[in-house]
Amino acid sequence: MTATNRYPLLFSPLDLGFTRLKNRALMGSMHTGLEDVPGGFERQAAFFAERARGGVGMIITGGIPPNEEAGGGAKLSNPEEAAQHRIVTEAVHAADPDVKICMQILHTGPLAGTPACVAPSAIRSRIGRYVPNELDEAGIEKQIADFATCAAMARLAGYDGVEIIGSAGYLLSTFLVEKTNQRTDQWGGSFENRMRFPVEVVRRVREAVGDDFIVIFRIAAMDMLEGGMSWDEVVTLAKAVEAAGANIISTHFTWHEAQVPTIATMVPRAAFTQVTGRLRKELSVPMITSNRINMPDVAEAVLERGDADIVSMARPMLADPDLVLKAAEGREDEINTCIACNQACLDHTFTGQLVSCLVNPRACRETELTYAPAAAPKRLAVVGAGPAGLSYATVAAQRGHKVTLFDAAADIGGQFNLARRIPGKEEFDETLRYYRRMIEVLGVELRLNTQADPDSLKAAGFDEVIVATGIEPRRPQLEGIDHPKVVGYIDAILGRKPIGQRVAIMGAGGIGFDVAELITHSGPSAALDIDVFAKEWGVDFKNHPRGGVTGVTPVVASSGREVTLLQRKTDSVGKGLGRTTGWTHRLTLLRRGVKMISGVEYLRIDDEGLHALVAGEPRLFEVDTVIVCAGQTPLRTLYDDLQRQGVKASLVGGAFEAAELDAKRAIDQASRLAAVV
Ligand code: FAD
Ligand code: NAP
Ligand code: SF4
Repeated sequence: MTATNRYPLLFSPLDLGFTRLKNRALMGSMHTGLEDVPGGFERQAAFFAERARGGVGMIITGGIPPNEEAGGGAKLSNPEEAAQHRIVTEAVHAADPDVKICMQILHTGPLAGTPACVAPSAIRSRIGRYVPNELDEAGIEKQIADFATCAAMARLAGYDGVEIIGSAGYLLSTFLVEKTNQRTDQWGGSFENRMRFPVEVVRRVREAVGDDFIVIFRIAAMDMLEGGMSWDEVVTLAKAVEAAGANIISTHFTWHEAQVPTIATMVPRAAFTQVTGRLRKELSVPMITSNRINMPDVAEAVLERGDADIVSMARPMLADPDLVLKAAEGREDEINTCIACNQACLDHTFTGQLVSCLVNPRACRETELTYAPAAAPKRLAVVGAGPAGLSYATVAAQRGHKVTLFDAAADIGGQFNLARRIPGKEEFDETLRYYRRMIEVLGVELRLNTQADPDSLKAAGFDEVIVATGIEPRRPQLEGIDHPKVVGYIDAILGRKPIGQRVAIMGAGGIGFDVAELITHSGPSAALDIDVFAKEWGVDFKNHPRGGVTGVTPVVASSGREVTLLQRKTDSVGKGLGRTTGWTHRLTLLRRGVKMISGVEYLRIDDEGLHALVAGEPRLFEVDTVIVCAGQTPLRTLYDDLQRQGVKASLVGGAFEAAELDAKRAIDQASRLAAVV
């Protein structure tokens, strides 16, 4: 079987009449921040050209505003601005003339961070900074005209098409639902009136660009809003948009304010494509589906089910620019899979940082972080096969160094072997699979079950030893810390010690939350079962009520343990978690009855339980088990010994700095050091 035959649908071309897509793999739109930095067009050119070389059929850029009031960076509204975009389109077409690149036109409406922001009604979004200005008739006409001009300029810039985003709480979608559109003129009221604006935008864009240009409309097939669009309205809008000139319709499943996770790790793969499949039956134009499609077999299965004509993979293309190429060549075990953590992509977007990727720090850094062949290959020992050691070893080996990788454990992965046991973090297995394979492909000599010691490292005569030995869990100095009811988080996660019915967790960082998830979890992981996911988040795929959500507070299955999550800080518990995912972890635990208490001063642990002061008042937590998740300190004994023996050594990952260390920082630091060794 040739490799492409393994994914016959993914690799079949799609004829759009005036043009042809070479395959069904699409890189979906992501705002990376490159749109807004000096030299951004050159950096976007490198970013997208690398993905074009990586085999994708079509690319959609990050959102480009059609005017000032649309918010979100440099607008496109005239030929001078269009000339800048040529840097991007020419780079992509030079990389592969068969790859199409479409520009997303993004008007963020009430979410634009400018007092000039506009909307159908003057209703402030829960996550918007300003009350938007209500558009009058002339204002509406201006916005429509600006969309049309922007699309014409995109054509002038050499794009193959545009995508108009009509979802997510941005301008077009705010016309669609009563919650944000309370107009009584021809642009509000009945659904026919509410959809007039998006349909008119599509009609005028088509008029401006002619027939031989791709126009994609992104529709909120399930907007996840209570009182959002009904299924009939979704179908009516899709048909109207098709009639107005869209030649592809792309489904979206979110509204930024909605309280349903739609792309995070705990969302099952391809969870939403069934909705696209239903809509596809109503339309004649090709349809794009998306969300948590991160491997070629998942994409092929989506196409096989008839859920879509094109599969969008956005974050997976950050994680691995060569995803499609690797699938075509039968090298899918070399794909660096997106684990849907959001840590370096969406969390960065929402905190004003340039996007990258936890598993691929080169994403959006293509021009500055390169892995050039080493001028003088060295013999390197890397000690510790956690994320830091793995990324150092593989990047160094890719550059031509001779690398030996040691780990005391029986398998690679370090703390990722703990993380992967947490329900909802099953994707972490993919990262370990990736590294396992790359160790083979790159010829890294792997020595497992080997506690590296300074004498043998010195005797082996390595040019340099990279110490990636990770961390030691912190054990707070507290009376009773050695009491039998005290369990460290490693023992708790590995099930090495029994956990009682009543539990206090000391420390509410990422690991405290993960441990709480693990010990309160019951039944199959929602990340692996769409029905469980739907139930836990109040999504009704079958009946598709307005927005697709039931509106009833979901019941989340629980182990029945009584758990209290404690921290010393007075901030609200969970504040330090990921910007775009923290709320999901908090909500799940609260729905399981987990109590969260901040401002705690620990006093002692004894047979009665954990004694503490809460807001200065004595409090006894009568618990059977106290699980310690109180952070970590670097494990540097090996490094110190090597230093003493005069062996050239460097530190990386948790061994370098444990405070606030996560895998994102460990992999980034290790890759950067290995790029210059
Ligand atoms: P480690 O992963 O600790 O690896 C160190 C390795 O060195 C170990 O394999 C150890 O066996 C080996 N070693 C030590 N001494 C020697 C020696 N002398 N000889 C040979 N081998 C030795 N981070 C995130 O970014 N996102 C998450 O969602 C996330 N979830 C997590 C969930 C849990 C439950 C846990 C425990 C951690 C999580 N983390 C997460 C944190 C992340 O796993 C760590 O930041 C990361 O593993 C640190 O990488 P490291 O390579 O520095 O160290
Ligand atoms: P952490 O986030 O630093 O949390 C440590 C917790 O321990 C805090 O709640 C801290 O809060 C408490 N603590 C610190 N010193 C203490 C002491 N002496 N006595 C009692 N409590 C103490 O670290 P972590 O939870 O161990 O996680 C390690 C790393 O892995 C972090 O960088 C984290 O981001 C990452 N991680 C990420 C995820 C994710 O989903 N993104 C999940 C797991 C882990 P107080 O000082 O207020 O008590
Ligand atoms: Fe995927 Fe995480 Fe990388 Fe974002 S940071 S692309 S979610 S692996």
